[in-house]
Amino acid sequence: MKLTDPVSSIPLVGPSYQKKLAKLEIHTVSDLLLHVPNRYLDFSKTSKIKDVRAGEAITISGVVNSIVNQTTKKGRRMQIGQIEDETGKITVLWFNQPFLVRALYPGTTISLSGKLSWFAGRPALVSPEFEITKKGTPTTHTGNITGVYSETSGLSSKWLRSRVKMVLKSTDLSKLEFLPGEILKKHNLVKVDKALLDIHFPKSEKDSERALKRLAFNELLFLHIDSITKKKKWQKTTPSYKIKAKVNEIEEFKKSLPFKLTKSQILVIDEILADFKKSYPMNRLLQGDVGSGKTVVAALASYLIFKNGYKTVFMAPTQILAKQHFNSLNELFKNFGIKVELVTSGSKKAVSKLSDVLIGTHALIHRSVDMSKVGLVVIDEQHKFGVEQRSHLLKNNVSPHVLTMTATPIPRTIALTLYNDLELSILKEIPKGRQIVTTWLVPPKKRNGAHSWIDSEITKKGSQAFIICPLIDESEAETFKDVKSVIVEYEKLKNVFKSKNVGLLHGRMKEAEKHEVLQKFKDRSIDILVSTPVVEVGIDIPNATMMVIEDAKRFGLAQLHQLRGRVGRGKKKSYCILFSDKKTERLLAMTKTHSGFELSELDLKLRGPGEVFGLKQSGFRELKIASWTDTKLIKQTSVVAKEVLNNPLRGEKNWFKNKE
Ligand code: ADP
Ligand code: MG
Repeated sequence: MKLTDPVSSIPLVGPSYQKKLAKLEIHTVSDLLLHVPNRYLDFSKTSKIKDVRAGEAITISGVVNSIVNQTTKKGRRMQIGQIEDETGKITVLWFNQPFLVRALYPGTTISLSGKLSWFAGRPALVSPEFEITKKGTPTTHTGNITGVYSETSGLSSKWLRSRVKMVLKSTDLSKLEFLPGEILKKHNLVKVDKALLDIHFPKSEKDSERALKRLAFNELLFLHIDSITKKKKWQKTTPSYKIKAKVNEIEEFKKSLPFKLTKSQILVIDEILADFKKSYPMNRLLQGDVGSGKTVVAALASYLIFKNGYKTVFMAPTQILAKQHFNSLNELFKNFGIKVELVTSGSKKAVSKLSDVLIGTHALIHRSVDMSKVGLVVIDEQHKFGVEQRSHLLKNNVSPHVLTMTATPIPRTIALTLYNDLELSILKEIPKGRQIVTTWLVPPKKRNGAHSWIDSEITKKGSQAFIICPLIDESEAETFKDVKSVIVEYEKLKNVFKSKNVGLLHGRMKEAEKHEVLQKFKDRSIDILVSTPVVEVGIDIPNATMMVIEDAKRFGLAQLHQLRGRVGRGKKKSYCILFSDKKTERLLAMTKTHSGFELSELDLKLRGPGEVFGLKQSGFRELKIASWTDTKLIKQTSVVAKEVLNNPLRGEKNWFKNKE
């Protein structure tokens, strides 16, 4: 058998098992071998019957004395048997397996592994793993450290184990090693053939750990190799516009700003200028906490693009943010004769050919902008933008430079592996003079008190508040159910804050309605804005000083941090109030930590990257064996990937290729 063979070539795997295996994404022999146990049971110690104790995981071997079918009072079919060794007898039972009575006739030698519990006042092995034994043949399911697989689609661990054993016996693993001996030694790796055996049938805990490390190493290594190869190909085959940056022009722009750029901003701008000099398109991810000043970095880049005679396209996640960018860019560009245009769904007229900077939502821009002459695309508040999406931007095979910006602080190692074809820039500093938003965690019994405090802050100081309700459904877009629940909350809060003007904002409102509500909030004719998390990114309302979040535990830390970033933008002292019936570690961290990066790292540790970054939703691959939190291995494999790319790998390796 070869590792690339389909599972149908494994004995006893017919069409129905093939279907079940396909559900686990197991299509080939190697897929089966790489479906690794998710835990192990240690049955390696064989006990004599007289020594076994209730509650222990044990293995015994003996002879079947008797076995009969019985029916319980509730009508369940039960197989009850007695096993004997030279030291004593023990009761064994199974349920609903009447065929066992014929298979395990008296006199059969048998080995059983399981936990000893009680039955009818006596110790008994209930539903143990078992196998009929022959002298001189090692056991597969009992008497070992036994792998337990995630059992879905009706495939038992026992079945999987026996098929894996079959495959391991009839496959030549000796030619699989593809890493040179020095690398194995340097990283303390076991050979790949040993790893494949040991991951399924380890002799010790250490064996299984080393096997897991080796297979995780392989998985990450090929992930890196894949993306480096893709990136190199993209750089070789996709030309872009060379952008010249004149020092005096840059100085002129800097001088026009109402503030001094932070050191971080200057550093990132230099990185972008270096990208502009290359012959292939920039693909840079700019990470920066809320308020770190990403917009002005993008503005300077578009200014240089303009000076070189090209256009910039600015994509925002929502129409509201597009409008806001339109305003701030107009302000930043006012001395330079740069024509900025807002692309709206309302305006039927074709996008003007004379505009230098076009701003709109992703969808609008795709539909209405002629991409020739576009030298730079800026994508705001997003962290996924792979080769596939970028290929849409290609015009006459020339690609614009791309700058993606996000406030979601993905740890560097993960970012570079997930988005390996990106370069990464980080704005580490927040401009001076920003205030820290005082954050309180408020239990239900203090809810009324908090409401009266908010009410009096509005009365006394003319402040404004956001009240954010979580989405009910776990989907990305708002559903009608979400809208209904925010409306219910809005009606309640209107009653709580009787003397105040309460407004409502949710994602299912028409754009024009949303704008109207936000305008009223800006004009202060609304005191309290009740909203779904649509206000999460970017909205700038300096007079709003209170961010109130309902049922805060339902939000991720990055999201809470984003929401909190909506206040504290003006001179007035600002507050974030988290309502929660539970005092969780995550929510407590919000009251103590004000760095988005730290919060995101904590969230990652507590909830895992799948939850935090919505890996599935964003179409990123889940790792099968390695873990996104294993930064050490991610770093190691990234180095090795670069090493081995220069020295082609030997041995067979196509069996381990990651699937897209
Ligand atoms: P974000 O990174 O969250 O997109 P913005 O680009 O919207 O942040 O910047 C937030 C605010 O900080 C804006 O009002 C902007 O004018 C201001 N700002 C940006 N850079 C600086 C700086 N170096 N010094 C002071 N204020 C700055
Ligand atoms: Mg922004």
